[in-house]
Amino acid sequence: MPVADYGQYCEMLDRARKGRFAYPAINVTSLTTANAVLKGLADSKSDGIIQVSTGGGAFASGAAVKDMALGAISIAEHVHRAAARYPIYVALHTDHCQADKLDTFVLPLVEETERRRAAGQPNLFNSHMFDGSALPLRENLEIAAKLLERFGKSDLMLEIEVGVVGGEEDGVRASAAAKLYTTPEDTLEVARRLRAVSGARYLLAATFGNVHGVYKPGQVKLKPSILKDCQEAVVAALGESARFHLVFHGGSGSELRDIHEALDYGVVKMNIDTDMQYVFTRAIVDHCFKNYDGVLRVDGEVGNKKAYDPRSYMATAEKAMATRVVRATTELRSAGTTMMQASATTIDARQPA
Ligand SMILES: [Zn+2]
Repeated sequence: MPVADYGQYCEMLDRARKGRFAYPAINVTSLTTANAVLKGLADSKSDGIIQVSTGGGAFASGAAVKDMALGAISIAEHVHRAAARYPIYVALHTDHCQADKLDTFVLPLVEETERRRAAGQPNLFNSHMFDGSALPLRENLEIAAKLLERFGKSDLMLEIEVGVVGGEEDGVRASAAAKLYTTPEDTLEVARRLRAVSGARYLLAATFGNVHGVYKPGQVKLKPSILKDCQEAVVAALGESARFHLVFHGGSGSELRDIHEALDYGVVKMNIDTDMQYVFTRAIVDHCFKNYDGVLRVDGEVGNKKAYDPRSYMATAEKAMATRVVRATTELRSAGTTMMQASATTIDARQPA
């Protein structure tokens, strides 16, 4: 299917919260990794989210250009074309963007969507994240509210983060003293401020001990009950309609039972980057070790063109990543939930017996 439109994206997220599952939101940096996600989602009959980070966008634009918005546009345009060949819905999102990068990443992408809409074309991306978690909450929300007002006019969704996710991502490292657990008071403030912007939707990444990057099992002390406390506080104060659609960042290496508990409390999107990076590279390493004298020209030999053709190991890595995507949809319970299937069933039901 083509990339989900705003209505379909809203429906995806609402279905996920109601059905207590989450979509994998997978970081991609190339055509190959984007294709891997599409294949994995299709194999598992799950809709999902493809996302591009500032570093991923810069990489995709080429080492000599390093324009993060340009690279993100290139990847998004590819996904718009390629997704049409797969029987699932995918949404396009941009990952972490700190305040100092808004002018060179998110805002040019929003402008691009505004330009396309004015010309009667679909949005480029479905949603963008603004990461103001390192700022005081008031400042974070001030910027978020301003963005949300603009986003609402173009059917764009905003993702924000409150509290700090530990570890490191894209070279940004959280300080050891960072606030790793969001409080219900903080999230209540989020709801009060952002619900005042009418007709616009947002996603909230609340932190509950999660860390970016990967850690050995047992080193990450997740407290998913924090998410439950936040939901209960906001519903008690502002009613059921204020219940959050939550995002889980920094989940690599988490225990499955913690992930499932988080899904029960309204996590509808889980970012997955590190684990995908590893399986992709692992497949290439395997290829090189197994074909040592093929990928290299050893002792005056000529190597094996079939082994060092980048397509050979890139295709293997794509396949390995697609398999990992399937596993992610199983763990997040989104496998088999595609809205494509729902509409296919509706069409089937109309066929004469
Ligand atoms: Zn984060």
